[in-house]
Order: sequence, then C-alpha cells, then structure tokens
Amino acid sequence: MKLMDKLFSALFPSRCIFCQQTVTQSIEVCTDCYQSLPHNDVCCERCALPLADEINHAVLCGRCIQKMPAFDYAHSLFRYEADVIGLVHQLKFGEKIGHARTISEMLLMKLLETDEQPDCLLPVPLHKSRLRQRGFNQSIEISRVISRKLAIPIEHSAVVRQRSTAAQTGLNAKQRQKNIRGAFSVVSKLPYRHVLIVDDVMTTGVTVNELAMLLKKNGVKRVGVLSIARAPVKA
Ligand SMILES: [Zn+2]
Ligand SMILES: [Zn+2]
Repeated sequence: MKLMDKLFSALFPSRCIFCQQTVTQSIEVCTDCYQSLPHNDVCCERCALPLADEINHAVLCGRCIQKMPAFDYAHSLFRYEADVIGLVHQLKFGEKIGHARTISEMLLMKLLETDEQPDCLLPVPLHKSRLRQRGFNQSIEISRVISRKLAIPIEHSAVVRQRSTAAQTGLNAKQRQKNIRGAFSVVSKLPYRHVLIVDDVMTTGVTVNELAMLLKKNGVKRVGVLSIARAPVKA
C-alpha cells in the first residue's frame, strides 16, 4: 500500500490528511474533519489552558491568577487529544513532516483572528544533540508559512538550548520547572519588540515561560506563544 499511497499523493496532491478526501484549499484538512477536531476555544485567556465547556466568557485559570506567566498571551489551535495526538506524533517523529505546511497554515489563521502583530517568530530551540538525532526542528517547520505570509523572520540562532534537558514527559509542573531552569541562553542580539514563540505542544507552559523570561530580560517588550495543541495540566 505504501507505493499506492505515494502514487495517489503524486496524482492528487491535495488530500485531507485525516480522511484522504480531495480538498481544494491550501489547507489539507477537509471541512468536516476540521470541524470535528478538538478546537481549544474555551480556555484561559492568558495561557490557553483548556477549561470546562460551560464557561463562555473571558476568564483566567487558577494558575494564572496565582502567578501571571512571563508571556503576554498564548493561543493554541487544539486540545491535545483525539486525532491531534496522532497528528503531532506524525509531525514530530518525521513520518509526515509534510503536514507541517498545513499545520502552519492553520496556525496562521489562528494568529490572524487576533490583533497581535509579532515582528519575529521564535520556534522553541532544540538542543543540538536532539536536533542531530531528529534531523529537523518541528517548531521551525510549522513556522514557515506564517513567516512567509507575514513577511517576518524566523529566529533560529540567537537563542540556543544550551543544556539537554531530560524529557519533560512524566514530570509534574514543579519538576518541569526545575528541569528547564537555565536551559536556554541568548547568544546574539535580539533586535525585536514583539516575539511570537512557536511550539508544537504546550503542556505545563514552563518551557515557553522560561523562554519568555529570557526574551524579556534581553529587551523584548511583548512575548506571545502559538502552539498546535495545549494539554490539560495534571498535578
Ligand atoms: Zn477529512
Ligand atoms: Zn492560565
């Protein structure tokens, strides 16, 4: 079937990445599949943490009330559940890196729903050992359409991940916080006023918060976060 799939995609390049139905728009997700995805519409207005569905007004989550994050806003397309988990895995582990373009188109739509006008995109940096192992940084790949269409640069050398942090999976919020502290550093000047951090999945938010603190320390005035999916916080 692999070869058949390849032939098909060569003949019909625009197919829904979920149901394979032919699509005419540049986003390779059909309307039905798009609507059935778990959109993160009801969420904390500051950090995009998914909230219970009954809430239909702007509200802050308990964690933001306790302590405001260093970033000024966060938007996440989806909740990290159902088909979105598969989509992110296919992207991250390189089976379907081609999905990055469609994801980037969807992220751009999400950003355009807001009034935010970042002057630079900062894909969350990977440590060089992880980059070598994976061969690409998925957050850079999902930034490309946004960068091209808004004519803003992707910053991928001024901020580096200097320490290879153990995988964050399985750690609670406190442990993640400790794990990530000092993991990034700025190695050249950041001539930006408003930076948009791009991430694949935002879980506790400690990684992007650490980056946001660093950016602000280095003179950036406004920092936002745009991610494919936001996971609910456990513990
Ligand atoms: Zn579909
Ligand atoms: Zn929040």
